[in-house]
Amino acid sequence: MIQVEGLHKSFGDHEVLTGVDFTADGGSVTALLGPSGSGKTTILRSLNVLETPDAGVVRISDATIDFATPPDRRAVKALRSKSGMVFQSHHLFPHKTVLGNLVEGPVQVQKRPVDEATAEARVLLEQVGLAGREDSYPSQLSGGQQQRVGIARALALKPEVLLLDEPTSALDPELVGEVLAVIRDLAAESWTLVIVTHEVRFARDVADQVLFLDNGVVAERGGTEVLTDPQEDRTQRFLARML
Ligand code: ADP
Repeated sequence: MIQVEGLHKSFGDHEVLTGVDFTADGGSVTALLGPSGSGKTTILRSLNVLETPDAGVVRISDATIDFATPPDRRAVKALRSKSGMVFQSHHLFPHKTVLGNLVEGPVQVQKRPVDEATAEARVLLEQVGLAGREDSYPSQLSGGQQQRVGIARALALKPEVLLLDEPTSALDPELVGEVLAVIRDLAAESWTLVIVTHEVRFARDVADQVLFLDNGVVAERGGTEVLTDPQEDRTQRFLARML
């Protein structure tokens, strides 16, 4: 479902990704862990072309871009449509209701009928445990509820892959569990997920694949044994600090 080859990205003189390769199967959960600044978010943003890599190939499903040459707009749009993004903080439209937030993309961007988008939005809200909150405004919801709306909103665009960038790190500790529970449900429903997280225990529970990033490269890659029995010194040192 996802294939990344030789991804390079610099910001000015700072080479942030120095050749990242990985694949992820459809229906699998990939967890990206690693020290702050190691390039995790940049990888996720590259998958959604929120960042334009300097070199490398990104393939999601049947959309591919080889960044050896600058991509044209149509290719960017095609690749972007394959993934939905959930950010650290939810980026909801504050002046729109929960339902309004969910139908905005499908109707405005994808030109889908309002009735259809509304019916689907209601199903998604139920899925994230927010049935009955259709008419609330984001400010009337807790941080955890807002983030669950953020997840439903990303799903409303019917992506093939969901990219989650530290979805719980901006939340008060008591709200983390409800958001992780929703992500766990999505994993159980065989969504293809790529998640940047510092929640080591959560990653150990739900991930099929773990990528440990360090200094812009995948330093260690494998199943959850990367977290339980790391082979690389730098993975061991990182986990010792986290647990
Ligand atoms: P992580 O998610 O692992 O914390 P990031 O991918 O966010 O790492 O960032 C990797 C490095 O790239 C950091 O040093 C960060 O400061 C730098 N960086 C990220 N985005 C930008 C940007 N838009 N401009 C300049 N530097 C950036």
